[in-house]
Amino acid sequence: QDALLEIKELHTGFNIDGKMHYAVKDVSFSVKPKEVVCVVGESGCGKSVMSLSVMKLLPKHNGKIDKGQVLFKGKDLAPLTDKEMNKIRGKDISMIFQEPMTALNPVMTIGWQMDEVLHNHTDSSNAEIRKKSISLLKQVGISRGEQIVNEYPHQLSGGMRQRVMIAMAIACQPQLLIADEPTTALDVTVQAQILELITKIQEEVGMAVMLITHDLGVVAEMADRVVVMYAGQVVEESDADRIFYEPKHPYTKALLSSIPRMDENREVLNTISGIVPSLKNMPERGCRFVNRCPEAMPECSEIDPELGETEKGHSVRCILYDVSMPDASKEVHQ
Ligand code: SF4
Ligand code: MG
Repeated sequence: QDALLEIKELHTGFNIDGKMHYAVKDVSFSVKPKEVVCVVGESGCGKSVMSLSVMKLLPKHNGKIDKGQVLFKGKDLAPLTDKEMNKIRGKDISMIFQEPMTALNPVMTIGWQMDEVLHNHTDSSNAEIRKKSISLLKQVGISRGEQIVNEYPHQLSGGMRQRVMIAMAIACQPQLLIADEPTTALDVTVQAQILELITKIQEEVGMAVMLITHDLGVVAEMADRVVVMYAGQVVEESDADRIFYEPKHPYTKALLSSIPRMDENREVLNTISGIVPSLKNMPERGCRFVNRCPEAMPECSEIDPELGETEKGHSVRCILYDVSMPDASKEVHQ
């Protein structure tokens, strides 16, 4: 099936003190219609910058897509103006964020903000639009919508606010929903409810979802396919089963071993030692995971590993799996 969204060799950079620093460097992957693709990695790996690049919501003063394409149904969004993007955002592609409070206007009622989305993209009358807003609230599990439309964001709980954001996001039946850590700010029981809601809505609307998360438990619940990002690059990509049962990249393996297991009574979580290199401290060349990788070899600091397919539908960026590498390193390490 043709891709709905195809990101090709995306480079997104920030101008810091006159120099371009790439938060997203050569990222390529795609999302098919109705597919749930989870993008995982620790914070600081470029997941949010990648999704803001797709929406063209980068900070205007210093962020920009420097190279690459963001093809939505075959049309490149990268060169579009704000005005052109406004026709697509909220209609064809919607986005929800970690903290709904920052996306909602604190001085406007919920109803006003919901109606606004529909006014922007339809010609319906005010009365029809209000009716639609209330029915959208019902769809996201808010039964007393008639009352909620007259309330302000601060009067709602975090979970309710996220439901409102989801209602606004699906108002125009988008083909793609981008959700950036949509449950991270919520407590655990509410998290589960919101994820269930996203799954239910995804099926009802028949949309694709790109879910950004650092939580592999969420990935296990939701994903058809998984894209693992590290330090601005895709390091592994495959269907969810293969990521969980046949992980290849040392970073993916490390992420998986850091999930707390139900059958282990551990006091301390396994975390990956070391930190993601910051924008200003990216190594000039070589593998970006080298100083945290348990399998690192001297040549890992010399060669930029390329993302390549090790088998159909499974790509890895690591010289242990690089078919173009001399055999010596592979024999020793596989
Ligand atoms: Fe580890 Fe080397 Fe592979 Fe990087 S290229 S992940 S350092 S083995
Ligand atoms: Mg983020």
